[in-house]
Amino acid sequence: MAFEGLTSRLQNVFGKLRGKGKVSEDDVNEAMREVRLALLEADVNFKVVKDFINKVKEKAVGIEVMKSFTPGMAIIDIVNKELTELMGGETAKLEKANKPPTVIMMAGLQGAGKTTTSGKLAKLLQKQNHKPLLVAADIYRPAAIKQLEVLGSQINVPVFALGDQVSPVEIAKQALEHARENHLDYVIIDTAGRLHIDEALMDELKQVHAAVNPTEVLLVVDAMTGQDAVNVADSFNQQLALTGVVLTKLDGDTRGGAALSVKAVTGCPIKFAATGEKVDALEPFHPERMASRILGMGDMLSLIEKAQAGIDADKAKEMEMKMRNASFTFDDFLEQMQQVKKLGPIDQILDMIPGMNKVKQTQNLKVDERQMGRIEAIVRSMTNEERKDPDLINHSRRKRIAAGSGTQLADVNRLIKQFDEMRRVMKQFSDMMGPKGPKMMKS
Ligand code: GDP
Repeated sequence: MAFEGLTSRLQNVFGKLRGKGKVSEDDVNEAMREVRLALLEADVNFKVVKDFINKVKEKAVGIEVMKSFTPGMAIIDIVNKELTELMGGETAKLEKANKPPTVIMMAGLQGAGKTTTSGKLAKLLQKQNHKPLLVAADIYRPAAIKQLEVLGSQINVPVFALGDQVSPVEIAKQALEHARENHLDYVIIDTAGRLHIDEALMDELKQVHAAVNPTEVLLVVDAMTGQDAVNVADSFNQQLALTGVVLTKLDGDTRGGAALSVKAVTGCPIKFAATGEKVDALEPFHPERMASRILGMGDMLSLIEKAQAGIDADKAKEMEMKMRNASFTFDDFLEQMQQVKKLGPIDQILDMIPGMNKVKQTQNLKVDERQMGRIEAIVRSMTNEERKDPDLINHSRRKRIAAGSGTQLADVNRLIKQFDEMRRVMKQFSDMMGPKGPKMMKS
């Protein structure tokens, strides 16, 4: 899968930062040096890397560390935001013409995936209840017209073709006419590609452009070609005023350089990402999600945001002290459960934790929310004295608690046993560390 190398390198860098309560300037410099190398190795443009590192460093100096953030986390947050910016910030939407049909001109070198992407885009628009028309204007590549026709019939989208003896300009003009007459609201023109950029190709594209005045000019580039993809995009953009880029083959093991440099180098936003040969393997490109993915963070940032909103840092500190003094009671336990529950369904929270998805799949892990409910009910059936001093809870009290909470005696026994175990471990820890020992929990 794409970005694997980059992701694992960045995860190493951030793994070192994540646990740190304090981050020195040297730590930041070292981390940035490693991020720089990781990006260069992922084939990100040299200048882009330099700018990127400078921006992150600038922001990392004297960061205001929020109560529930460690400085390490704050730096990861900065890198994530800058990566998102680098790829364009906001998700770039497909523009629409004031008056239908909206003309989308597809351009790109041969083999980049232009014809396939035209079909995918038609399918995507069709799903949004639009009526697209595919136009076969690649009259040079043998079988390109046939390929588009096959695609069209597969997805049930009409294909406008006039064979390979009519000029692309003429085909485009007539296609537009055809769309108007038949009330089709999108016209996707699959233009000719070449193995390399040449003047004849550019001239032809410019003529087609002038003839149909497209709202969108999308350049299809193969992400696997790394810096070449960026160079191609740059050259096309200088001649054709692109409105967006489509990155294809992100399902392959691309190092990611193209995705990270294309916007910065050309100024053109990436509008779509293609992740497979199948006709539905095309999605709008979301910079922030891509950044998360590259950082191997799952959706950790949403989780951090949720934690910031939901978990009270002062309370967490108080809890830490209690744990260290081994004076943690069932009331505290309940309180912690409430805090965690505020973050949302446990299952969804787990999904936001990097790598957790894999763990869940391989171990067939299921989180039972009802189990949480039972635990809560048991604790709530205890008296105040019992919650504070669980040693009071003898056999007859346990039976009463089970009856009161609608659970079995075995459930109550299990919970009390787990709680005792937890307190025993906490006590061991605090004995080991002493009252001023290393912190067990970071807020
Ligand atoms: P064109 O010459 O630019 O029109 O390229 P095509 O659309 O014919 O695509 C060239 C090859 O790339 C075909 O074999 C496609 O199936 C393949 N292809 C296109 N997009 C993707 C993609 O996102 N992932 C993968 N794995 N293959 C793709």
